Amino acid sequence: MTHIGTKSIDELYKDHRAAHDQVESISDFHAWIDGEPSPTGDRFETRDPVVDEPITEVDRADASDVDRAVETAWEAFDGWSETTPTERGSILFDWADELAEHVDEVALLETIDTGKPLSDAKGEVKGAIDTLEYYASIARDQWGKQIQARDDVHLYTRYEPHGVVGQIVPWNFPTWGAAWKFGPALAAGNASILKPSADSPLSAIYMAELASGIVPDGVVSVLPGSGSEVGDPLVSHEDVRKLSFTGSTEVGSHVMHSAADTITPVTLELGGKSPFIVFPDADLDKVVPAVGAGIFYATGEICDAFSRALVHEDVLEEFTERFVAHAESYVLGDPLDEETTMGPLTSESQFETVTEYMDIGREEATLLTGGSMPEDPALSDGWYVEPTVFGNVENDMQIAQEEIFGPVQTIIPFSTYEEAIELANDVDYGLAAGIGSESTSIVHNAAADIDAGLVYVNEYGPIIPEAPYGGFKDSGIGKDLGRDALDHYRRKKSVYVNLDEPSL
Ligand code: NAD
Repeated sequence: MTHIGTKSIDELYKDHRAAHDQVESISDFHAWIDGEPSPTGDRFETRDPVVDEPITEVDRADASDVDRAVETAWEAFDGWSETTPTERGSILFDWADELAEHVDEVALLETIDTGKPLSDAKGEVKGAIDTLEYYASIARDQWGKQIQARDDVHLYTRYEPHGVVGQIVPWNFPTWGAAWKFGPALAAGNASILKPSADSPLSAIYMAELASGIVPDGVVSVLPGSGSEVGDPLVSHEDVRKLSFTGSTEVGSHVMHSAADTITPVTLELGGKSPFIVFPDADLDKVVPAVGAGIFYATGEICDAFSRALVHEDVLEEFTERFVAHAESYVLGDPLDEETTMGPLTSESQFETVTEYMDIGREEATLLTGGSMPEDPALSDGWYVEPTVFGNVENDMQIAQEEIFGPVQTIIPFSTYEEAIELANDVDYGLAAGIGSESTSIVHNAAADIDAGLVYVNEYGPIIPEAPYGGFKDSGIGKDLGRDALDHYRRKKSVYVNLDEPSL
C-alpha cells in the first residue's frame, strides 16, 4: 500500500492556485527572440498535472517565428563567433551565476509544469548550473592539432562553430535538458534556438530571460510550441546548420529523415528500456534503492530508467520482497510539499499511456504492487499512478520491450551470466544499464558485454557533466555532455600551409 500525503483537496487547490499566481508574477512567457520577449500573437495554456488546471498562458510559435529566430540568430552569430573562447566561458559563468540566484523560481516553474517534487527540481536546476559552469570551464580549452606529415607543409587542424543550431528537448527534464544543449553549443561559438516541449515550456523561457544582458542578444532563442508548428520548421530549415534532438525514438527518426534533406548533422538522444542486472552476490542494501531510484525517480519519466530488473534466481525471492517494500515506501502527494517523494505524471496523455501499459501488464504478468491511481480524494484530479511492480515477466512481453515512461518495474529472472547478458541486450534500445555485484570481475566483464551507452554499478546516477551521455542502437546517435558534446557543436578544418625552402 503506497503512502499518500496529508493535504486535503481544498488545501491542495489553494496552494496550487497561489503557485500559479506566483508563476504569472515571474514572467509573461513570450517566445524569446533577439534577446527580448517576442510575442507571437497566439497563446496556449500549460497545465498543472496535480490539479489539472491551467497554470498560465505561453506563446505559441510557428514557422514564421522560426524564420525570424533563425535570421536574428545569424545576425548575432557574426559578433558571437568573433568572441574569444575565454570571453564565451566568462559569459557562461555569469549566466550560471544568474541561474544560481534564481534557483527557487526556476525550480517552482519546473515543479508546477512537470509535477516533479520541488526538492528534485531544485537538484536539477543545480545540475543545470553545474553543466553551464562545466562548459564555461572548457570553453577556453580548445585545441587544434599540428600534424607532422612533411617538413615542407605546416599542417594543422582548427575548430569552427556550425553557426545557428536547432535544439529540441522533451518535457521530463526541461531545465537541465536545456542546459545540456545551450552549454556546449554556446561554448563552441554557435547561436542556439531551443524548442522546449509544449508540456513543460516555462523554465526554458525563463532561463533565456535570465540570460538577458549577459549573453548577447540573438545568441539564445526559445520558441515554445508544438512539434508540428515549431519542431518541423526548425529541423527542416535550410539555414539551421546543426540539430540536436532529445525525445522519443519515433520523432528522432523523423528528425533524422528531415535533416537528410538539408545534409544537416544530427545528435539524437532517444528512448530506452534499460536493464539492471542483479547478480547473486549483489549487496541488496545498495541495489534495491538503486534500482528503485532508477525506475521511480521523476515518476519513472526518465529516459535511462531501469525498467527491466534482471534478477538471478538465487536472490529473486529476497530481491522481489524488498523491492516491493521499497516501491510502497514512496510518498505520493503534492510535489510542493517536502515530504512528497513522487508526484503525478506530467500530462493526461502520459497518464493514459502508462495506465494502458499497466492493463497490458496485468494480462501478461503478475501484478505485485501498485497498478492503479492512489486512493486519496485529494489526488484524484491529478495524473497520479502508484509505483508498480510486475513479477513473472518474460523478456519478450510487451511491458518488457516497450518504453512505458512511467513508474512501472518488470522483474525478470535469469540463471547464468550468459543468459543475463543475452536478456540485457535483447531489446531495440541501448541507452543505459545497471549492474549489481560485489565482484570486480563480474562488474567489468558485464560493463563491457552490455550493449548500452551508459553503465551504472551498484547505483543510479549521478550524472556528471564531464562524462559523455548517450545511447547505442535505437537510443540515439552521438553524445550530450562531456567534451564529446563540444565536438558535436564544432567543425574541424585541416589547413595546409606550404613551406618553401628558406632562401635569403
Ligand atoms: P517526443 O519525441 O514526443 O517529443 C520530444 C520533443 O520533440 C518535444 O519538444 C516535441 O514537441 C518535439 N517534436 C514532436 N514532434 C516533432 C516533429 N515532428 N519535429 C520536431 N520536433 C518534434 O518525446 P517526449 O514524449 O516529449 O519525451 C519522452 C521521450 O524522450 C522518451 O522516449 C524518452 O526516453 C526520451 N528522452 C531521452 C533522453 C536521452 O537523453 N536519451 C532524455 C530525456 C527523454
